Amino acid sequence: KSLSESIKLPEPIAMKENCAINISKNNILAEKISIFEGNITNLAVDAIVNAANSSLLGGGGVDGAIHGAAGPFLKEECRTLGGCQVGEAKITGGYQLPSRYVIHTVGPKGEYPEKLKKCYRNSLEVLVSKKLRTIAFPCISTGIYGFPNLSAAHAATYQVRKYLEDNTDQIDRVIFCLFMDEDKKIYKGILQSYFPIS
Ligand code: ADP
Repeated sequence: KSLSESIKLPEPIAMKENCAINISKNNILAEKISIFEGNITNLAVDAIVNAANSSLLGGGGVDGAIHGAAGPFLKEECRTLGGCQVGEAKITGGYQLPSRYVIHTVGPKGEYPEKLKKCYRNSLEVLVSKKLRTIAFPCISTGIYGFPNLSAAHAATYQVRKYLEDNTDQIDRVIFCLFMDEDKKIYKGILQSYFPIS
């Protein structure tokens, strides 16, 4: 059985999360969402998000790729930040990256949806507080930190939907950067239910 066949589509958001969605915004929000398949360090956006660890001093996976592409001054700035708690987000320059800034967030180890949503919410909050308008997210926690991919994708897309509803005019584009084939299939399966076009 192929992966795409085994993906269960979510219930309508209002039922699943017990919150009303503003259907009148469907088209406007859907237009702000993109998928990018590949390396997040190639994206020229206002900010790319790093799935960091709590030291903020670099690690493997996307963290290693971002530090490698940004160059050593990124780590120098990270050193001044005093680490980062799970769910928090902190911003630095992008240095040699094409993106202007990096927003570092620390995902939960394992399946903790509320903590993962906090990563997405706080990253968007940092973006808006700096008056930046475009952002790209990797699939936070789904690599070394072991959060199951489908469940993580639901938490991520739900939280981005909710934040965009409340801050529609502050954000121009949110890109889900998908690196693994599994995530490409999952996001293609579920995005329309969180960002339908009416
Ligand atoms: P975590 O420790 O939060 O699980 P990882 O870096 O191990 O973070 O994995 C998070 C996601 O980032 C995984 O889907 C992984 O495949 C993906 N990833 C790894 N390198 C890159 C990259 N260069 N660009 C985008 N995504 C990447």
